[in-house]
Order: sequence, then structure tokens, then C-alpha cells
Amino acid sequence: MYSQIYLDYNATTYCDPAVLESMLPFFADNFGNASSDHHPYGWMAKNALDEATQNISKLLGIRKDEIVYTSGSTEGINMILKGIVESKNSAKAHIITAKTEHKAVLDVCKHLQNNGHLITWLDVDKNGIIDTVQLENAITTQTDLVAIMYANNETGVIQPLDEIAAICQSKNVPLFSDATQALGKLSLNDFFQKVDFACFSGHKIYGPKGIGFNYIKKEQATALPPFIHGGGQQRGLRGGTYNLPAIVGLSKAISLALQQLDQENTRLKNLKDQLEKELQTIPEIQINGMDIARLANTTNVSFPFVDGKNLLRSLSRKIAVSNGSACNSAAEFPSHVLIAMGLEEPLAFASLRISLGRKTTGEDLQKAIKYIKEAVNKQRENNILWEQHQSL
Ligand code: PLP
Repeated sequence: MYSQIYLDYNATTYCDPAVLESMLPFFADNFGNASSDHHPYGWMAKNALDEATQNISKLLGIRKDEIVYTSGSTEGINMILKGIVESKNSAKAHIITAKTEHKAVLDVCKHLQNNGHLITWLDVDKNGIIDTVQLENAITTQTDLVAIMYANNETGVIQPLDEIAAICQSKNVPLFSDATQALGKLSLNDFFQKVDFACFSGHKIYGPKGIGFNYIKKEQATALPPFIHGGGQQRGLRGGTYNLPAIVGLSKAISLALQQLDQENTRLKNLKDQLEKELQTIPEIQINGMDIARLANTTNVSFPFVDGKNLLRSLSRKIAVSNGSACNSAAEFPSHVLIAMGLEEPLAFASLRISLGRKTTGEDLQKAIKYIKEAVNKQRENNILWEQHQSL
């Protein structure tokens, strides 16, 4: 296969072999439609669906009827944001979000804004954290939803969800948190008490692509209108035949991720600390979100006096990293997350997101560090500004 060292686990993960194995019987042998309730093919499929949903509900401490399966977080985000707006029956909606959200949130919000709805875009500080005073001041009696992600996909920065939830609860405004990067990386023990809506995706946690789920708190059960009209599945919210192999795989992937969470976090934190320590020997480099709680597996590093596009190009045959989210990494635009954190455009371009995962080893990272150092040195050798900077 590819010879590159894979360090882009926040973009996607491989499907765990045990997950794949759990899915296989539901393609050919147990292929029934979980909604066919007049024969054993359907009953068996329904049993498997119920078992998978029961397992997810137990593992996360949520109710079965608080789970709505989706094709992933982009769909989940569309369901929640557009649903909140549609439920207003043509009245203007007000949503508050942050400038560092995933593009799926930003683009849906821009679309809603273009259709006349009011969106408040919160700033972040140099570490990527929202200002909770700005949030509190932005909430009015007309506010319909606050949408703030838990952990950022580009920097790993974790928002102060306790404080955000306390503000939303005191103002009686529902809170939606995109927790796509949090599942399997952070404990979600009291997460579901804080939020009203959340979205998750299978392919970030060693599950299959094309499956995810939304958490919709019981009290919000009637807040959203149907998102996909059809056969009335999923309490009418999202019609369409259940993707049973993927749902079974998702359930298995969550089991494995939670079993390994503490051990894997300790291992990855040690690896990341070592990686950052060694990268910091490169003059002038900057680790984005350095002073704040971040995911154990993610680091985002900027290299001044380096051409970002050339850097990425020179590394692409050796290590798989990105300079933004996967959707952005063609590098046509600098990362909106880093720009919101105050980086100038050239520095935002000259930044790498390095995200570690289950197959990452210390040996891989040693090689990656060597490649990055060589690439940065080479870029700087040809940079007159770097020469001038050094002679200062
Ligand atoms: N939200 C975050 C924070 C993500 O990292 C991603 C994936 O890149 C998404 C949403 C979109 O998820 P999906 O690929 O399941 O549509």
C-alpha cells in the first residue's frame, strides 16, 4: 500500500478489523430490512439494530430514543441547524456559533444567514477559545441555539463546555456541540448532561465511513421537524432503510474506543509531548493552542519563514499530514481556524496538523521529525527573509 507514515487520524481512521468482522454477517446472511416486521429476515435485522442501539445507549449513558443514525457529522449538523430554523415556521432564527467551527457548521450557518436568519459569529483568543462573556452578551430572548464544538479538529483545542453549558442553561437556550473529534478521545461521562444536541461520526473512531449519529435530548424530542421524509424510520426524523452493517460496526467501534480510551490517551500524550519537544528545537516554530487543554493526539505547528504549499508538497510522499481540515487541505485557502486565532495568512499556510492514532509508533515520529526538519531547513535555505532575520 502507501509507504507514507499516516499522521492524519483526525481526517479519518482505518476501519478496525474487529469492526469489519462484526459488520460482515449483515451484508449477505442477515440481510433483512429492520423495518420488515412480518418475517424472520426482518426480525433478525431488527434484533441486531436494537442490540447495537442498546449497546451505544448503555456505553454513553443516554436513552435509546435519544439516538438518530445519520450518514455522519455533516448530515447530523445539517439536521440540527436546519431543523431548528425550520421549526420556526418562517420566523427569523438566531444561532450563535464560533469562527473556528468545522466547515460543516460554518457553511450551513452561512447558508441560513443568506436566507435572512441571524447568525452571531463568536471570536476566539490566540489559543482558539471562545470568550464566554461575548457568548453571554450575544444571547437574547430571541436566540434559538448555541452551536459550539467540543474539540477542534485542526488544533485539538477543547472548549470550556462546563462554562458554556452553564450560560446556556441559565439563559434557557439549547446547546448543540459537535463532538465528532471528542468521541473516543475524551471521556463523555457528563457531556450529555450539558448539551441538548450533539453529532458523532463512525469514521473518526475506527468505524466505517457513511455512518454516524445525532444525540437529541429527550426534552428536545419534538424540537426538530423530519429531516428526510420517507418511510418514517427513526421516529419520523430520518426516513430510509437502516444501514444495518454500518450501525453494527459503529456500535462495535464505540465499544472498542471506550475500552481503550485511557490507555490510548496516555500513550498518545507521551508520543505527542515527545514530538512537540523535538519540533520545538526548530527555531521560531509555534505550537498553536499550546497553553490550553488539547486532545492527546493532535498538534498543530506553524513554521515562520517557510512556504506552506512547498512544505506540504515536499512532505507528501513521506508523511500523511494536513494543513487544515481534510476538506480544506488542498490549501487553496489558509485555515480559517488559525486565521481566527490571529495568525497571518502566510503563517497559517505554513502550518501542519499532525494527528496521531492507534498505529502511530515512536519510531514513526522520529522519522517524521527528521523529514519535517529537513523540509523546513530546505525551505529556509532559499528564503532571503530568513537570512535577514537570522542576521538581526
Ligand atoms: N465536525 C468535525 C469536528 C469533524 O472533524 C468532521 C470531520 O472532518 C465533521 C464535523 C464532518 O464529519 P463527517 O466526515 O462524518 O461528515
